[in-house]
Amino acid sequence: MNIHEYQAKEILNAYDIPVPRGRVALTSDQVERAAKMMGGRCVVKAQIYAGGRGKAGGVQLVHHPEQAQELGKELFGRRLVTPQTGPEGLKVRRILVEEAVEISREFYLSITLDRNSSRYCLIASAEGGVEIEEVARRSPEKIHKLTVDPFTGLRPFQARKIALALGLAGGICEDCVQLILNLYKLCQEKDCSLVEINPLVVTKAGWLLAMDAKINFDDNALFRHLEYPDMLDYSQLDPLEITASKFDLSYIKLQGSIGCMVNGAGLAMATLDVLKEFGGEPANFLDVGGGATREKVAEAFKIILQDPDVRGVFVNIFGGIMRCDVIAHGIIEAASEVNCTLPIVVRMDGSQVEEGKQLLAGSGLNVQTADSLGDGAARIVAMLG
Ligand code: ADP
Ligand code: MG
Repeated sequence: MNIHEYQAKEILNAYDIPVPRGRVALTSDQVERAAKMMGGRCVVKAQIYAGGRGKAGGVQLVHHPEQAQELGKELFGRRLVTPQTGPEGLKVRRILVEEAVEISREFYLSITLDRNSSRYCLIASAEGGVEIEEVARRSPEKIHKLTVDPFTGLRPFQARKIALALGLAGGICEDCVQLILNLYKLCQEKDCSLVEINPLVVTKAGWLLAMDAKINFDDNALFRHLEYPDMLDYSQLDPLEITASKFDLSYIKLQGSIGCMVNGAGLAMATLDVLKEFGGEPANFLDVGGGATREKVAEAFKIILQDPDVRGVFVNIFGGIMRCDVIAHGIIEAASEVNCTLPIVVRMDGSQVEEGKQLLAGSGLNVQTADSLGDGAARIVAMLG
């Protein structure tokens, strides 16, 4: 689960990690007032669930409150497109107004879960800021990594090694050691899958400050933090993903034109691979899970049909636990409810498969059934022409 930069900074602050003074605004008048509080000269930062805002005009220095207000008017409601948002961008609904800090150096610092070692991994670079992806590509040796042993935790000497590698010395090096230890504590206590400070800066006045902050909470631990769902900004999520999660369905949006309904993540992967093999491009995939009911299948099918990119639907269900006639009923119910005329190919196997096929054949839908995965993929690609 994602949260906004301003929320992440509130959490950093609670863990004694220094952040710039700032206020979040919901209207351009509030932006103006917040700018006045900062003394006029300030940085206006669009809050979206993606980075790369600086280069896309979402982070700008202004010199007067009126200028901040103008920029607020321009940004609110606009869809900001950054390398991390995809072509449709994300709508700006909240703006963080921050004191403008005189920066001397910018670092990169993050803690994330390394899935290979199943451990937290600390990543740091002396060349932080908006070009960090470029640094990682061009000179990976400038990125320092440290895997944390969960039994000993992060030790001060390890944090110091990282601070020294960033080129810090003296008092500010010790400040950085404490900051890294606090960040690790935060990461653990808040069940984060990622905490990223980019940039962590040394100001001209010689202080360490977290200028940007990104936090991802581990979805599997959400039940331990009942306050987290309140922090969600639904305007930043795909409405279909929200509906899917209500019905406990996993929905992933992709770029093509064929909607895919499957049961099980492994089968989903295989379905996407085989579709591509036959020249088809998936628009999404929707996993209905193992023991889906007729209602759940119907909801899943409706979600797929609401995706405007979908020109045809491929259903690939292996009915181990699920009965094929139940699946057929769900499909027919949903498709008739929304008057679906799109081509549909259903490949299903398992118990009551013949009954399922008969139901579909007599449904009056533009549907074909397939006997194998390859056969099904070929059919839906052919039907879309
Ligand atoms: P993003 O990573 O989405 O581009 P950042 O918050 O990192 O957004 O901002 C981009 C750049 O803008 C930072 O690398 C930093 O140089 C500068 N910046 C951000 N906030 C401030 C601030 N309060 N004062 C001065 N410069 C800032
Ligand atoms: Mg940043």
